[in-house]
Amino acid sequence: MTKVLYNRELAPQFMKYGILIPIKAERSLSVFNSIKDVAQIDEYPLENIPVLDKSDLLLAHSSKFVENFLDEKGSLAELIQTYELVDKQGVFCRYNPDIAQEPLSNMVFKVRRQAGATYQAMTYGLKNGFCFFLGGGMHHAMIEGGRGFCPINDLIIGLRKLQKDNKIKTAWVIDVDAHMGDGCAEITKDDETITTLSIHMAKGWPLDGEDNSNDKFSIHPSDIDIPINNNEEHLYLEKLEQGLNQLSKQYPIPDIALVVNGSDPYEKDELPGTRFLNLTKEQMLERDLLVYHFLKKLNTNQTWVMSGGYGPYSYEIYAQFITYLFEKNFID
Ligand SMILES: [Zn+2]
Repeated sequence: MTKVLYNRELAPQFMKYGILIPIKAERSLSVFNSIKDVAQIDEYPLENIPVLDKSDLLLAHSSKFVENFLDEKGSLAELIQTYELVDKQGVFCRYNPDIAQEPLSNMVFKVRRQAGATYQAMTYGLKNGFCFFLGGGMHHAMIEGGRGFCPINDLIIGLRKLQKDNKIKTAWVIDVDAHMGDGCAEITKDDETITTLSIHMAKGWPLDGEDNSNDKFSIHPSDIDIPINNNEEHLYLEKLEQGLNQLSKQYPIPDIALVVNGSDPYEKDELPGTRFLNLTKEQMLERDLLVYHFLKKLNTNQTWVMSGGYGPYSYEIYAQFITYLFEKNFID
């Protein structure tokens, strides 16, 4: 009964590839160390995790992108774009190949396995009613490719793989990351079987100055969007609750709900771009419990993924939520 899925090889390890993004490989390890006793879990065997293949990636992405991403040379350009490693002048930024232990193109295999773990966690969510994967959540990747640190969309690929395998018909994606779940919204814009809700900073994403009229990555609304303005933190929980109620009123109860559980709305998050939304640690726990109990009440299978969360304190948010669930015997 895998209720929390973790393996250290699934952590991003950006530094290994010379990418200077402050998601530390220790983030999921710190969560694992905090919760392993209360949750009574060991590391999940890496060999049991599927590495997603071309046919899986095509469930959410265009063939042009997938072929490029799976090609050694093409993948470099895709990854450089996804992690924003070149500035407007064509100079490397946030990237130092000199400190890399492995070539950037090796990330492709890793990403395919990370997405496989998201899928695996969904199958446990269906079996057990609940599963939290300590990784995953690449919600910005769109049909034509990766963006915003998200090389492929593990969420929609996983859900559509479950549909293809006849394990589910319908799903909700509930995205509480500080940034809009715009990739999931775009990929599923004509897909009535997957409903998206996103609560996020009204400002700060897409990145300031980014050209939104670009056809390749144009922004589509989620089925329910809840933008939170500067200094509206006191309204956050109320607005989230209203949004969830609207979701259950307007859409049929799904076979699975996927929660994109970014911790970057936390006031101690270190990514400069998340400064527009600052929830306290207590508000973060209330947020997570609100979503958990809402889905529990509907008797819907739940799978949670980590998504964004930057700096040394982000692990606290996942650790406090999972510990609470086990200590209160909400899951066992
Ligand atoms: Zn985020």
